[in-house]
Amino acid sequence: MTNILNWPDYNVSQVHESEYDYQVYAELKCPPSFCIHCYTSDLVGFGKRTEILMDIPMHGKRVGIHLNRKRFKCQSCNKTFYELVSRKDEKRRMTKRLIEYIERES
Ligand SMILES: [Zn+2]
Repeated sequence: MTNILNWPDYNVSQVHESEYDYQVYAELKCPPSFCIHCYTSDLVGFGKRTEILMDIPMHGKRVGIHLNRKRFKCQSCNKTFYELVSRKDEKRRMTKRLIEYIERES
């Protein structure tokens, strides 16, 4: 296991455990290598935001991932974008594996 999430492409900086849940602080290891709009590689960092994703329960406790999602600006087309998070369901604040888990359990 690479980290508490078992996601090798993420760095986990902190894990807080309370009586009912785990709060996991994570971010993607690798920045994007090209612009999602024009595909050039002329990118600079342009801030970040924290998104909270619910993940599958661990040891009977709820798991919330505080994802530090970085934003980039393309020097070529001037557009900005947030790094892609393939493990997230884009319609919900949940991980894809949580959705699979809920579908299995119901
Ligand atoms: Zn671009």
